[in-house]
Amino acid sequence: MRVLVVEDDALLGDAIQAGLKQSGYAVDWMKDGASADQALTTEPYVAVVLDLGLPRLSGLEVLRRLRSRSIPIPVLILTAMDAVEDRIKGLDAGADDYLVKPFDMKELAARLRALIRRASGKTEPFLEIAGVRLDPAAHRVLCHGQPVELSAKEFAVLHALMLNAGKVLSRAKLEEQLYAWGDEIESNAVEVHIHHLRRKLFSGVIETIRGVGYLMQRDKTS
Ligand code: CA
Repeated sequence: MRVLVVEDDALLGDAIQAGLKQSGYAVDWMKDGASADQALTTEPYVAVVLDLGLPRLSGLEVLRRLRSRSIPIPVLILTAMDAVEDRIKGLDAGADDYLVKPFDMKELAARLRALIRRASGKTEPFLEIAGVRLDPAAHRVLCHGQPVELSAKEFAVLHALMLNAGKVLSRAKLEEQLYAWGDEIESNAVEVHIHHLRRKLFSGVIETIRGVGYLMQRDKTS
């Protein structure tokens, strides 16, 4: 799950990046509005954390441009304590949620989980398919009630497939979700993660659609 963080304050940006990485996200961090605008035209983020006061292009303008392209990525804006007008303008320009600085990293992570869940059309806090239950908050997976130990990347692959149940995800799409800019991508990493997931869960849990990608079927509990 790849998230874009846009924050020009070095200390805060660093803290957000570290906190979200710890929560299992691949994080790209941009320090100005123009770079963020550029990244948003090319990269497939699941959510954006957007400061409003930015050099080169304001956060509000980044948001307006994003929404003018009709891209439905959830956006959480960061504003100063006394900036009520900014929050209103931000929400009216298409932000989905906001946090007032200073905020707790745990709250940011929880709000992002909620935004990503809602964007996928889900209301329950966990995902469940074919006896596999994934809890994004606790970072836990149960298979028929039994806890299963997954690596961070295995968890991320499973999470992406479950959020997109019923759709085929290509290897490239999964890689884009797993790696931030500058991360080294191992050549057959996705295949290896899928192989491990089938071994740790059960072999039919993820289907291979030859030449296209991977798929988890929806079931009635998902
Ligand atoms: Ca700022």
